[in-house]
Amino acid sequence: MNLIFLGPPGSGKGTQALKLSQQESLIHLSTGDVLREAVKNETELGKKAKEYMNAGNLVPDALIVGLIQEKIKNGHLGNGFILDGFPRTIPQAEALKRMLEEQSLKLDFAICFHVEDDKIVKRMAGRRFCPVCQTTYNIYVEDAKPKNDGKCDKDNEDLIIRSDDLEDVVRNRLVVYHKQTKPIVEFYRNESILVEIDADRAPEEVFNSILETVK
Ligand code: AMP
Repeated sequence: MNLIFLGPPGSGKGTQALKLSQQESLIHLSTGDVLREAVKNETELGKKAKEYMNAGNLVPDALIVGLIQEKIKNGHLGNGFILDGFPRTIPQAEALKRMLEEQSLKLDFAICFHVEDDKIVKRMAGRRFCPVCQTTYNIYVEDAKPKNDGKCDKDNEDLIIRSDDLEDVVRNRLVVYHKQTKPIVEFYRNESILVEIDADRAPEEVFNSILETVK
């Protein structure tokens, strides 16, 4: 099963992708995670991507398409995958289609997560992140809160706010989403693989809707 997860930042697609990938033994590829790792390790890709990410803008298509192409060619997407955060523009969606066709692969579903902008801003303002073990928390969500204020449950490190979760940056990311990523919803509707999910619900309910779709 080959899936892509679409939706605004903070709509929960990363959490759901991780859970589904574990349950269904799929490869989970988050371009945001790959880029953050590259920035942390100060690789060439990281150096090029950093400024765009800090401003909440998209990294240029050529960089991202090159990254995905490498994974597909080297067979890193295995027997089934979830692409989380890719594609995010029409050129990326077209490039993905070509790259998959070259490997005789195709997408089964494009799952689009819907949450209103104001709710997203609130959700993201509560996000906290452990810089050491990368665990993400949310101080406004009962089952995602750290046990001790401001400290990671796993290693007791001080939690931080990711630079791209700051409110101004989040608002810009939403503008970018509506302008550049929303058009690919129509792209996948035309391909007849679009599934739209109300993601403004408890995480388990959202997960059950996704399971119903893919089963
Ligand atoms: P995410 O964690 O998916 O929200 O991604 C964090 C940031 O990484 C985004 O705000 C972009 O700057 C960059 N990014 C991730 N995926 C892509 C993509 N497919 N195209 C362009 N930029 C991306």
